[in-house]
Amino acid sequence: MPDALLALGRLGVNLDDALSAPFTGIGFSGYGRRAEALLPNGTGRGIRRTVLHKLLAEQAEKLGVQLLWQKRITALDGHYLSLDSELIHARWIVGADGLHSRIRRWARLDAGTTTSSRVGRRFHYRVVPWSRCVEIHWGDHGQAYVTPIAPDEVCVAFISRKKHSAGAFSLGPYPELKKRLGCADIVSAPRGAMTLGRILHRVTAGHVALIGDASGSVDAITGEGLALSFRQALALSDAFVHNDLDLYEAAHRSIGRVPAFMSRMMLVLDRHQLLRRHTLQAFERSPQLFARMLGVHVGAAPLRWLGDGGVLRLGWGLITA
Ligand SMILES: Cc1cc2nc3c(=O)[nH]c(=O)nc-3n(C[C@H](O)[C@H](O)[C@H](O)COP(=O)(O)OP(=O)(O)OC[C@H]3O[C@@H](n4cnc5c(N)ncnc54)[C@H](O)[C@@H]3O)c2cc1C
Repeated sequence: MPDALLALGRLGVNLDDALSAPFTGIGFSGYGRRAEALLPNGTGRGIRRTVLHKLLAEQAEKLGVQLLWQKRITALDGHYLSLDSELIHARWIVGADGLHSRIRRWARLDAGTTTSSRVGRRFHYRVVPWSRCVEIHWGDHGQAYVTPIAPDEVCVAFISRKKHSAGAFSLGPYPELKKRLGCADIVSAPRGAMTLGRILHRVTAGHVALIGDASGSVDAITGEGLALSFRQALALSDAFVHNDLDLYEAAHRSIGRVPAFMSRMMLVLDRHQLLRRHTLQAFERSPQLFARMLGVHVGAAPLRWLGDGGVLRLGWGLITA
């Protein structure tokens, strides 16, 4: 999203020359309905995680970070980390080790609330992107969202609550997508992972701080996972400069507020078929309603907008849809 690109730019990473694809809006489709809205704050960019990862690693090395590939942290003891058989002393320790973070467990920061748990699987299709939008296709098994990631490639991520339903991860429930992709080649090995909505009570303890999915997460449907970690990285570096992790604790809470709220809203739609159908119908009939929700999602409109009558407007839209 544009705001994520801004945060990434502040970390010194620019995607302009990277293999990627721009998008200018978000589209919701399903049950024969479609709503689209332009991003109110600029252009977004779809990129493969592997390409982004390379750019992040290059920038880190440029700044003097020593990267130790294929090494594993196996224990934490005060200011000491076991790196396979080596011991390392660290002034600060940052747990950036993902959803199932061990640093989090060792630092006794596991306490929190899991608000959702779903399964995702992604595929890359060789096809020229047909839309300037990231498209979210809603079905009864979950969602399929399509992101252009190169001039001739799109990424499709299927997200579902049904862990064992093969149908949840196929084009079958999404007839529009099947028309577009039924004959396209899949150009990478499909990969799957859990996606959790999770809020921790605390993300710091003494000299240890958590970041990224290790520090709590939002459902993948929000597309905000990495954006959160870029903003957290900026806040954490500020806290280091001031020698005060409490600053990070407070900033982390505020960074996560809107994405967690939007994640919960999307998951309410995921759970209730009738509400989902009515919402899609309401968004199709009132594109400005959809545009305002998107404005809140990308941080261009304040969350309070939803309290200032936005929810009422949505409710009215649903009743009259
Ligand atoms: C299907 C799906 C689609 C998604 N789509 C999007 C999207 O479109 N946009 C978006 O922004 N987000 C998306 N997300 C979410 C995004 O993938 C995560 O938010 C992001 O990967 C979190 O990054 P991270 O670096 O915190 O954790 P991870 O990517 O999990 O990285 C953690 C790293 O820590 C390493 N590690 C773990 N334990 C140790 C150890 N003991 N020692 C050393 N290293 C260790 C791991 O090997 C790994 O490399 C999606 C997620 C899923 C499941």
